[in-house]
Amino acid sequence: MTGNESRLKAISAISSSVAADVKPTEPLQNIWACDVFNLATMEEKLSKSAFKAMKKTVQTGSPLDSATADIVAMAMKDWAIEKGVKFFSHIFFPMTNATAEKHDGFIVTNFDGNAINEFTGKLLIKGEPDGSSFPNGSLRMTNAARGYTAWDPSSPAYVMYTPNGATLMIPSVFMSWTGEALDKKIPLLRSNAAMDKAAQKVLKLMGETEVATLNSSCGAEQEYFLVDENFANARPDLILAGRTLFGAAPAKGQQFDDHYFGAIPERVQVFMQDFEDQLYRLGIPAKTHHNEVAPGQFEIAPYFEAANVAADHQQLLMTVMKITAKKHGFVALLHEKPFAGVNGSGKHVNWSVGNATQGNLLDPGNTPEKNLNFLLFCGAVIRGVHLFGPLLRAVIASAANDHRLGANEAPPAILSVYLGDQLEKVFMDIKEGNLSPTVSGGEMDLGLSQILTFTRDPGDRNRTSPFAFTGNRFEFRAVGSSQSVSGPLVAMNTILADSLDWIAEKLEAAIAGGMDHTAAVIDVLKTLMEEHGNVVFGGDGYSSEWHEMAVAERGLKNLPTAADALPELMKPEVVELFSSTGVLTPVELQSRYEVYSEQYILSIEVEAKLVIDMATTSIYPAAASYLSMLSESISASISLGLGLGTGVASKLSSSINSMMASVDKLSVALGEHEFDSEQAHMEYCAKTIRPLMDEVREYADTLETLIADKLWPLPKYSEMLFIK
Ligand code: ADP
Ligand code: MG
Repeated sequence: MTGNESRLKAISAISSSVAADVKPTEPLQNIWACDVFNLATMEEKLSKSAFKAMKKTVQTGSPLDSATADIVAMAMKDWAIEKGVKFFSHIFFPMTNATAEKHDGFIVTNFDGNAINEFTGKLLIKGEPDGSSFPNGSLRMTNAARGYTAWDPSSPAYVMYTPNGATLMIPSVFMSWTGEALDKKIPLLRSNAAMDKAAQKVLKLMGETEVATLNSSCGAEQEYFLVDENFANARPDLILAGRTLFGAAPAKGQQFDDHYFGAIPERVQVFMQDFEDQLYRLGIPAKTHHNEVAPGQFEIAPYFEAANVAADHQQLLMTVMKITAKKHGFVALLHEKPFAGVNGSGKHVNWSVGNATQGNLLDPGNTPEKNLNFLLFCGAVIRGVHLFGPLLRAVIASAANDHRLGANEAPPAILSVYLGDQLEKVFMDIKEGNLSPTVSGGEMDLGLSQILTFTRDPGDRNRTSPFAFTGNRFEFRAVGSSQSVSGPLVAMNTILADSLDWIAEKLEAAIAGGMDHTAAVIDVLKTLMEEHGNVVFGGDGYSSEWHEMAVAERGLKNLPTAADALPELMKPEVVELFSSTGVLTPVELQSRYEVYSEQYILSIEVEAKLVIDMATTSIYPAAASYLSMLSESISASISLGLGLGTGVASKLSSSINSMMASVDKLSVALGEHEFDSEQAHMEYCAKTIRPLMDEVREYADTLETLIADKLWPLPKYSEMLFIK
């Protein structure tokens, strides 16, 4: 099939497509978490003492003894086998944004040749996948490598059904034989522990007598596109790179603002219902779905959960989304920028920290004593973002996310904090000393009353800020749609831990010097705001004034590409941050830097090769055949004494020549292999390869507007973006 045939076939297939048949949705209580071995299931299946031990492990992270592990393994196996499960798999999260699995059968045969199912605590707790094929930076020599997976009991096991059968999935950490973290889960667990430790110190200094273990929470809003699979299959770029490398802007694009919250087409509705039912079975609290800003774009936002569980669920959600989309004849695109000139996709990461005794510490609450805690935690976030803004930029750095950040649709690549008018005023008052720490009857008289009437109006939101306070949490908006939420969560927990440590030290000194809590808090926050208040910004983050002011006056860093941002991971203060909090050793951090840089380089090089390939083997032939058609009709018209088509033909031939000349330049550029460092290689990709890819694209997109529609090989934007 030639290129244009598959496009034309796709168009006709789509016009006759109908919504898939799915079973009518079941009541939530019938399906909720029915495929999950969670605490509720364990309470049913385990002895009282085993359940108690498990519950303690889940809630406090205390280690599980081997006797209990055996009991849990047995119960888990029996529960799974009843559901038709034959295999189990340790599922883990390597340093790429992907999810990986290692499958094993329960089956063992005995001397009589009979098959029995076996599963022990040892197997549950430790698996041993061949780690060598997972990127690990320079941590291990790839051929000598052995990686271990170990169950993370704080994230429940579940059953996954696929056409190949049912599998018991065991969420796991992944580490080297020397105990180094090779995954995204270990640092997340460690960052929670670091944050807990520092928060305990602060809360105890604040006079709290009972302080339960603190945990971070995460609610992620996932944006994505759906494209009919007939179209996607006719676009090698969508299939191989997850985004279109070519495509002229449609006549009707995003001016279609009525798409936002507009009616969802029936086929998509049926898909969403199926998708959500599956998420419910897996215990993922999917909540909202609506059309996003761009046509063909949607969002799903599960209700927030403990960060570690939310991170696992987020990975699972992306997997289930892709599988379910396929079932409904769609391809789900999680890429940050599948269509140039059309709004991209992000993943807002909503984050807060709290515990059972003090509640959500980022909630302003109703009582002044609690507000003091809130002010301290909020202040700690401000300090963290100011000191480690470049780190926050680095943890969301990828070739794909570079297309969004700073592109006037997504937050800028400059990290600032938005507090909202009221809260900003409180912090500025503290900074300027306008908030008097006079205490009457142990309570703050002025100022804090402003927060008492704190409005949580979602209308009061600054959409242009990358990091915003939204009523009872912070929302990190610069995260990319395809990224794991773990990196951002690790960074946020860790900078919070560091700042809380700093606060604890100052607070302790102030209290030792005779100040009461209120005065001490105001005193510490005044210093904090004097040093770090520059990061607070409530204006338009998209504006060019901000881009200038942020750098020149506020001293904030603008790191437009991943090539600029990733090296920030290796800055001494970042190495010190992670090692002092015990979240990542310098070696572990270094390995992450290497893996992320390699991925950045690799993804740009793969795209560049695709650009060359598609321009040469698909766009050029279409252009050449149109040119020969034109030449024939031009000769005919000349023989009639007319001069029709000569203008188009000359425009066409010059665009063809220019495109192929750019293709040649790109090929030569890709042949460069000598670089002094990973950083130099990344910069080359950002500053040389990418612009050349854009150059090829520009000529190709002009060709798309010139060539006869029936000859054009690739599904067009207007076709892919409007789904029926
Ligand atoms: P938006 O107005 O930004 O589109 P949504 O309602 O779509 O907001 O999503 C908000 C997300 O924030 C949801 O996942 C929600 O569960 C989550 N969330 C709410 N409170 C908290 C909290 N305290 N900590 C973390 N996430 C939270
Ligand atoms: Mg949001």
